[in-house]
Amino acid sequence: MSVKSVYMMTDLEGVAGVDDWDPRHRDDATTAKGVYDRAEMQRLLTGEVNAAAEGLFAAGVEEIIINDAHGAGRTILSEELISGVKLVQGVKRPCWLPGLSPKFDALIQVGMHAMTGTPNGCLAHSMSQNMVYRVNGVEVGEMEMAAYLCGHLSIPWVFTAGDLHACTESERWVHGIVTAPVKEGLGELCALHMAPTDARALIKTRVQEAMAVAQNIEPLIAKRPVVVEVTHPDPDRLSVPEGVERVDDVTIRCQGDSFWQVFHNMVYGKPDFPVPA
Ligand SMILES: [Zn+2]
Repeated sequence: MSVKSVYMMTDLEGVAGVDDWDPRHRDDATTAKGVYDRAEMQRLLTGEVNAAAEGLFAAGVEEIIINDAHGAGRTILSEELISGVKLVQGVKRPCWLPGLSPKFDALIQVGMHAMTGTPNGCLAHSMSQNMVYRVNGVEVGEMEMAAYLCGHLSIPWVFTAGDLHACTESERWVHGIVTAPVKEGLGELCALHMAPTDARALIKTRVQEAMAVAQNIEPLIAKRPVVVEVTHPDPDRLSVPEGVERVDDVTIRCQGDSFWQVFHNMVYGKPDFPVPA
């Protein structure tokens, strides 16, 4: 049996050529510089997403859903996507991974950055800067959280493209995962990048290798009961939904039967968010 359906999680900060925060919240966002910088980032991301999709189709994949998951909600240039893919885009989402269902055979992640606190991780963060997430006492980043949600549906995380530090992080979590390090973070705002054309070629090749081994890779599943703790240095940024306990000024905690339940409780205030059928 080969992989037929793939869910592609994407982010901006791990893309080759990107080594600055998205200017959309900055004062210069609407200046010529801000607009130019963001448009360039969008093209770079879209190029890597297309390269991954090309590799997937070449490996025999028939269905690809791409999640434009960077905080802006609309970062991928949809008009430039290759034919055959589908794109989740927009804000005020019902959940973090819209369109996810058990029909997917594999999760791949493109444009990935390392978790908060990773030495030399380019643009490293976890949901927001300086925020720390722990699952059962172990620090996790965005990649692991997406993988835990997919793991709840028995979907394995089989491929990462992004900062070398994100690739190393992926390899620590998943035995046999295939990675494509397209740049090496040298600091928060500095990286040694591959030329984007080479980064795309690497992604296209490596994602095909990932499809060849995908069925040997175990999904990531958190041991029950699942305890998630979130720390944010700015207490005002931590909301405490029902069912979530405040540990101290900067930390909240929630326990439940599954990562799926606890994540949706803490992040969306929806402890009963249905598991897709
Ligand atoms: Zn991110």
